[in-house]
Amino acid sequence: MSIGVNIHHKIKKFTLDAEFHIQEPGITALFGPSGSGKTTLINIIAGLENPTRGHIQIRDHVIFEHNRQINLPIRQRRVGYVFQDARLFPHKTVRDNLYFGARRNANKLPHDEQEAIIEMLGLDPLMARRPNKLSGGEKQRVALGRALLANPDILLLDEPLSALDYTRKEEILPYFEWLRDHRKLPILYVTHSIDEVARLADHIVVMDKGKTLASGTVFEMLSRSDLPPLAGQFDAGTVLAARIVSRDPKGEVSFLDCGGQRIVVPYLGRPANNDVRLHIRARDVMIARTPPNGISANNIIPVTITKITDGKGDTLDVDMCFGHDADAAFLAKTNGRPTLHARITRWSGSRLKLGLHQKVYAVIKSVTVSGPRREL
Ligand code: ADP
Ligand code: MG
Repeated sequence: MSIGVNIHHKIKKFTLDAEFHIQEPGITALFGPSGSGKTTLINIIAGLENPTRGHIQIRDHVIFEHNRQINLPIRQRRVGYVFQDARLFPHKTVRDNLYFGARRNANKLPHDEQEAIIEMLGLDPLMARRPNKLSGGEKQRVALGRALLANPDILLLDEPLSALDYTRKEEILPYFEWLRDHRKLPILYVTHSIDEVARLADHIVVMDKGKTLASGTVFEMLSRSDLPPLAGQFDAGTVLAARIVSRDPKGEVSFLDCGGQRIVVPYLGRPANNDVRLHIRARDVMIARTPPNGISANNIIPVTITKITDGKGDTLDVDMCFGHDADAAFLAKTNGRPTLHARITRWSGSRLKLGLHQKVYAVIKSVTVSGPRREL
């Protein structure tokens, strides 16, 4: 197990009840609106606050267990924490900030791994500077470097990008992707941005009003419309795993494979066999009874309707799984097969006479591709 949490905590009027278990490493997004208790929860995991009861386990080490009076001090928890604001020591240079935690650490990272982290984060040119001479993105890179050099068992990131503008976010995101793919370090990543979740997370723990509502893989969770914090953002649509197969001879488009279905996207400039994620917004998916001709959309995918629910206002949310070959037993649980979501007007739903298990075509106007897990 990479992380197991089951705790109860009360501070003044706020009660936190959190329970989730993540088996594999990778990035777990702690997702929920402001005030839902995300920071409180990771402060508890880091040992900055003590819960009233419960237990916390990281990589098979129990770091807190109320019943057995286990409560490891912060230093022994082997947790790397990157705060929302970088919290560097203002009077120390970048070099001294970086090695602050690592110096007193009994479990030192081998020298070549330290070098790899510093190189990966591009910190060499910054070493002699003080924090007031760094940009917001540079400060976060130093904070991330400091946390990693202490050789933690888990990395806790509290909205590490929220203070940065779009360009700086784009500068930092690939480092998180690199950590996820190359260091196999479990990462608990607090965010309220569905785009960051869709791009980075392997798992999601959804929080609302001090409670963990559900947890699961990013693919399962982003296709659930019943969870309030996600439902508000559900316009986000579907996240699917795909692989680059080839490109057209002129290099104008890339061809991807997504569960056996070909998907065409604007040329990605990356070689075949790279894994990518597709992010398809519900509002970018149209539904057709017959495959349309003479249409600019590049992706017309045979799908079977698995669920129709009333959306907000005059809309319908239509869930579909790929393919026309699914039988009724299969449709009862579409686990494993890529699914799509469309948001259409109720009026077009009745005009097309859409019904459960109907075989139709999803016409996809636009696909956002993130990843691949590129080399830095
Ligand atoms: P999030 O990180 O999801 O925005 P927080 O964990 O910061 O949420 O806060 C959760 C709730 O706990 C909020 O209602 C906040 O006002 C309350 N809270 C946080 N810290 C304290 C504290 N030290 N004393 C009292 N209430 C607190
Ligand atoms: Mg917070």
